[in-house]
Amino acid sequence: MSGVSVTKDAQDAAPAADDLVVLSNVNKHFGALHVLQDIDLSIARGEVVVVIGPSGSGKSTLCRTINRLETIDSGTITVDGKELPSEGRELARLRADVGMVFQSFNLFAHKTVLQNVMLGQLKVRKTDSAAALEKAKSLLDRVGVGSQADKYPAQLSGGQQQRVAIARALAMDPKVMLFDEPTSALDPEMINEVLEVMQQLAREGMTMVVVTHEMGFARSAANRVVFMADGKIVEEAAPEQFFSNPRSDRAKDFLSKIL
Ligand code: ADP
Ligand code: MG
Repeated sequence: MSGVSVTKDAQDAAPAADDLVVLSNVNKHFGALHVLQDIDLSIARGEVVVVIGPSGSGKSTLCRTINRLETIDSGTITVDGKELPSEGRELARLRADVGMVFQSFNLFAHKTVLQNVMLGQLKVRKTDSAAALEKAKSLLDRVGVGSQADKYPAQLSGGQQQRVAIARALAMDPKVMLFDEPTSALDPEMINEVLEVMQQLAREGMTMVVVTHEMGFARSAANRVVFMADGKIVEEAAPEQFFSNPRSDRAKDFLSKIL
């Protein structure tokens, strides 16, 4: 408690102290396509933001810019107050603060499950191998695939592989986790086992950005829903408000098609 009163204007001018990820006026083009248009988005520590919107609206690109898998043309993106450099060793270290889980799992096919979860710790975080091993085992147990540690990814179901991918990202002690349609490639019976791991993470206070079409997850886990269309954030609201009373025609139209 500082005892100094802060005016509303001053609060609006600067990001709140507990904002972990801040995108300010971000623009990106792919050739003539203006894929991200004046994106302003602040994500608080411990917040779970679900991003929804039609295919092609820029959701994946948004995620990929946050950890510099894509460059931006203008604007700034900070994670815990730091802007990511465009290349070099510093980028690898800072990028590891942002865990990413993709639709397509992206595990290393020629490494075991255990090696997949150890690799980043050894190479990027320079953890010693005994500690990396312990941590990998404990994370694999936590996501429910401890008994699969010595198998190769192809020997696992899609749901198990995705849980390994989550464990691998968590092994880097990320400050924020990005999930880009993590259940879209899964057979229906495997979706819940992945969503449950994500629910658990959310309950434990992980800061998360989740692109998903799983509206049940959005309703139960999200603090905020961000609706994107044509490269813009069209609407953002608490899930109960967004789903019961969307304001924009774009959101109404989108929801009428998926619910
Ligand atoms: P979403 O995840 O919402 O479906 P994306 O971010 O994947 O949308 O894509 C937004 C738009 O940008 C789409 O029109 C897509 O075709 C285009 N796009 C995505 N990646 C590239 C790329 N590397 N080069 C050119 N166009 C791209
Ligand atoms: Mg996408």
